[in-house]
Amino acid sequence: MQRFPDHLLNGYNNFMSGRFNEQQQRYKALAEKGQQPHTLVIACCDSRSAPETIFDSGPGELFVVRNVANMMPPYEPDGHYHSTSAALEFAVQVLKVRDIVVMGHGRCGGIKAALDLDAEPLSPGDFIGRWMHLLKPAAEQIQSNDIMTPGERQRALERVSIRNSIANLRTFPCVQILEQRGKLQLHGAWFDISSGELWVMDAKTGDFARPGM
Ligand SMILES: [Zn+2]
Repeated sequence: MQRFPDHLLNGYNNFMSGRFNEQQQRYKALAEKGQQPHTLVIACCDSRSAPETIFDSGPGELFVVRNVANMMPPYEPDGHYHSTSAALEFAVQVLKVRDIVVMGHGRCGGIKAALDLDAEPLSPGDFIGRWMHLLKPAAEQIQSNDIMTPGERQRALERVSIRNSIANLRTFPCVQILEQRGKLQLHGAWFDISSGELWVMDAKTGDFARPGM
C-alpha cells in the first residue's frame, strides 16, 4: 500500500511539538482574524532558497509565490491561467501588502536552462522552455558576451531576471497606481546559497550590493 513519506510525517511531528506548540496563540489569532502579511515575496521553487527560512519569518508574515526562476510575467489579461498574476492580484488588492520582494538566488537551474539556448525540451509540453522565453532576449545577449565566464553569465542573468520581474510588475495597473501613491514599494534581492549572503538591488541603478546591517 502507498504510504505518506515518513520524513514528512517526522517533520510534521517535530513542527507540532516545537514551533506550533510554542506559537499556538499566534496560529489561533491568525486563524480567527485572518492573515495580514506585510510583504509579497516572489521567489524560485528551488529547495535551497525558501523565503520564510532566509528572512526568519513566522506564520502570517510573508505571502509567498514561488515559480521557476522567480519570474513575474507581464500583465496579460487574456483569459489564460496565470498563477503568479493571481497571487499578485490577491496580495495587492486584498491583503494590501506594502512591499513586494523579487528574490533570485545563485546556481538557479531555471536560469541555467535559459542560458542553454540549444537545449532540447524536457517533455512534449516544453513548459520550462516556454516559461524561460520571458528571459530569452536577455539570455541571448548575455550568451553572446565573450568576456564573461559561464559563472559570470549565470549570475548576470539571475540579476537581469530580478530586474525584468520588477519591470513586469510595473505593467500591472494596480501596482503602478499604488507605487505612484507611495503605498507600495518594489524591491529586488539575490541570495547566495553557498555563503548565505543576501544582495539587495538599488532601486535607482539596478545594481546589487550587500546591505549595511
Ligand atoms: Zn532558481
